[in-house]
Amino acid sequence: MLVDAHNHLDFWRDEVSLIRTVEEYEVYTLCMSMDYSSYLRCLRMPDSRFLFKCFGIHPWRVKGSIDVSTYEDEVRASKVVGEVGLDFHWAKDRSKYSHQVQVFRDLCLIANKYDKMVNVHTKGAEAEVYDILKETMTPAIIHWYDGGVDDFNKLKELDTLFTISVDAGYNEMTDYIIKNTPLDRLLTETDGEGSMEWVDPAKKSSPLRVVDIGKYIAMIKGMDYDEVRDRINKNFISKFL
Ligand SMILES: [Zn+2]
Repeated sequence: MLVDAHNHLDFWRDEVSLIRTVEEYEVYTLCMSMDYSSYLRCLRMPDSRFLFKCFGIHPWRVKGSIDVSTYEDEVRASKVVGEVGLDFHWAKDRSKYSHQVQVFRDLCLIANKYDKMVNVHTKGAEAEVYDILKETMTPAIIHWYDGGVDDFNKLKELDTLFTISVDAGYNEMTDYIIKNTPLDRLLTETDGEGSMEWVDPAKKSSPLRVVDIGKYIAMIKGMDYDEVRDRINKNFISKFL
């Protein structure tokens, strides 16, 4: 068993080989969606007992205020609510930031209502994400954190889980997170096709990148890979299986 706690099914060009890999290596996958149409695309893709198709609205897709109460059924049907969050870095149109905040906060409240965790994008808005998670008391998986140390420490106080993504070995902040987060609060993730090529164009994206990430975590923590993999599996099982 392996864990991919943040992947985007609809980003993969070759879904057949993706699903073959997931099945062969038993990669339990939280499949994120970007918005409602992305969620529908994911639902139309082949099913597997290892794929959990989740509804979310990514901050990049927020163009105005959204009445998220119309998505209660989708939230209830999801293992986690994601991808959600805020982005004040890559999303350049500041006039949309207040809408991002409204959508994220309201989705957190609905997630809470149905006892779901949120799978959160925090880029450039780490302090604001912290405020909303704290205010709404929403349990969260912080996906591919790349903000500052102070905000990381604040988010850690909230009992969040952190995913380690494909920049393990390429980013000092990721080393810091690995060193400073107990193993029982770490998960691995790939973030879909293209993320690996974005970090290192010489390497192809694959769900099996979570093995490389697990080995890197083991190296940084001075542990055996098997022990790290088993602990990450346990983290996933205790929350989602
Ligand atoms: Zn993502």
